[in-house]
Parts: sequence; structure tokens; C-alpha cells
Amino acid sequence: MEMRYLEGVATLALDEAACIGCGRCTEVCPHAVFEVAHRKARIRDRDRCMECGACARNCPAGALRVQAGVGCAAAIVMGWLTGRTPACGCGSDGCC
Ligand code: SF4
Ligand code: SF4
Repeated sequence: MEMRYLEGVATLALDEAACIGCGRCTEVCPHAVFEVAHRKARIRDRDRCMECGACARNCPAGALRVQAGVGCAAAIVMGWLTGRTPACGCGSDGCC
């Protein structure tokens, strides 16, 4: 089963100029968010990111940023784990 989360909410950011193309992010990401081509990483599907933070912790160039353990994706994961309604408090309209 393909794991995807809410569309367009992951805090993941890639600085392509800083990337040295080492491929470490492709090794540590549990959801295959990245691919490397022509010595540059690319986000192939941002909505697969669960904001675990492994890529940012392991990127030797500091090219990746993600707010691990916060936000909508983390709220959804916690909802799955606890059986409660996901709630991250990001929206006044009660989106989640
Ligand atoms: S770990 Fe960092 S430097 Fe290495 S390919 Fe990924 S983004 Fe680029
Ligand atoms: S935060 Fe985790 S799931 Fe998201 S891109 Fe980085 S390693 Fe992959």
C-alpha cells in the first residue's frame, strides 16, 4: 500500500543549490520521497513525507529542512496510532 498523507502540508524543504548529490537522503527516507539525478536530489512526491526528520538529520550539506514531529502529517500518524481524530491545530476552520 502506498503511504500518503494530506496533500501539500508537509514542511519538507530542499535547497537544491546546497545539495551535493550524495544520495544519503534516498537511503534514509522510509517513504522514498527523494531521487537523485545529475548529482542533485529531487523531491519526487512531497505528500509521502511523514516528517520523521531522518533526511535532514543525515544530509551532510544541510540542504534539507523539515519540522519533525509537528504539523498535519505528524497529527495524522498520531491519529492512526492512538485511534483519535487527528488534530494539529493548524487551522481555525477545523481542518485537522
Ligand atoms: S542527503 Fe542532502 S546533499 Fe545528499 S543528496 Fe540528499 S539533499 Fe543532497
Ligand atoms: S522527513 Fe522522513 S519521510 Fe519526510 S522526506 Fe525526510 S526522511 Fe522522508
